Amino acid sequence: MSIKIQPEAIASLRGFELPERLGFGTVMAPVMFRARFQDGRWSDGELIPYGPLALDPAAKVLHYAQTCFEGMKAYRNGSRVRLFRPERNAARMAHSARRLCMPPVTESLFLDGVRTMAAYCANLIPASSGESLYIRPFLIGTQPDLSVTASRAYEFYVIASPSEAYHAGNMRLWIEREDSRAAVGGTGDAKVGGNYAASLLSVSRLKERGYDQSLWLNPGNRHTVDELSGMNFFAVMDGALHTPALNGSILEGITRDSILTLARELGLEVHERDIDIDDLLKLVESGTCSEAFACGTAAIVSPISELGDDERRYRLKQAPGPVAERLRAALLDIQEGRADDRFGWMQAVDVAEN
Ligand SMILES: *Cc1c(COP(=O)(O)O)cnc(C)c1O
Repeated sequence: MSIKIQPEAIASLRGFELPERLGFGTVMAPVMFRARFQDGRWSDGELIPYGPLALDPAAKVLHYAQTCFEGMKAYRNGSRVRLFRPERNAARMAHSARRLCMPPVTESLFLDGVRTMAAYCANLIPASSGESLYIRPFLIGTQPDLSVTASRAYEFYVIASPSEAYHAGNMRLWIEREDSRAAVGGTGDAKVGGNYAASLLSVSRLKERGYDQSLWLNPGNRHTVDELSGMNFFAVMDGALHTPALNGSILEGITRDSILTLARELGLEVHERDIDIDDLLKLVESGTCSEAFACGTAAIVSPISELGDDERRYRLKQAPGPVAERLRAALLDIQEGRADDRFGWMQAVDVAEN
């Protein structure tokens, strides 16, 4: 496939100045990648200026939520720009798309999109440790009619945001015993906007109580731990690493998978299993569970300092704990090029002259 680079896109890149303060996900790169699906096939991709989308008010995405997304990062190390395991994001987005009856973006089109964005935005990628270009590919159903059927027209976009490290800090989690974010057999293992919409009410309630994030339980049994709204959950018990096994209502994080690989390499005992919430709270209380953390692309590894259950608070002995710190450093060292890429996770991007 060929990629069309609009001259207006190059002009907007030339006229762009990176603001002093970046934050996370608030400053947008001045270009975006777009491809359209019509009559059963994908168009070539093109790089265009960043700007509002023209959507028909009856577009299916606005009513029936045919939309899924990805989150990933490009890292700059001197003049080198690299992506972290982008083929895993491509595969996961195809999985999410299929669940919503949307045509998967082909791996080559997906990689064209993220590579083109990283290549043309290379100069906008901040290069201090923890900083990166956060890349957000997404797919929407655009056919304008209100019948409840799958859209026949789609648009795939990739936008990007030069970002500072996302500091979640020490997180206090509220155990959500009432609501569920996604059902088993539903969209729990797909990265879709609807799951996030379903998580927002819980978050607004817990903020009033002084917590930072919800800890979601399995929507089927309501007593084993699933994950956070956008991060996977880990606990350290007697020095061994435990994380909930993938069960259909947990999103399979690429950071989760990488952490498991790095933990095994460090010689840690690793358990993917069902973690009963009441057992976990007892182990936190007795100190057997000494630390817990969450992981995801944006915040990398974030320590958990407290679990709140109704009126009771359970404090973790160590936050941040030594296991979380070691794993965070091991992962960042590979992503930022200080350590050998022994698992073949990094992919170089040819930087565009513009
Ligand atoms: C994106 C996401 C994660 C983290 O996945 P990574 O690939 O590690 O960024 C975890 N849980 C949910 C619900 C998510 O949407």
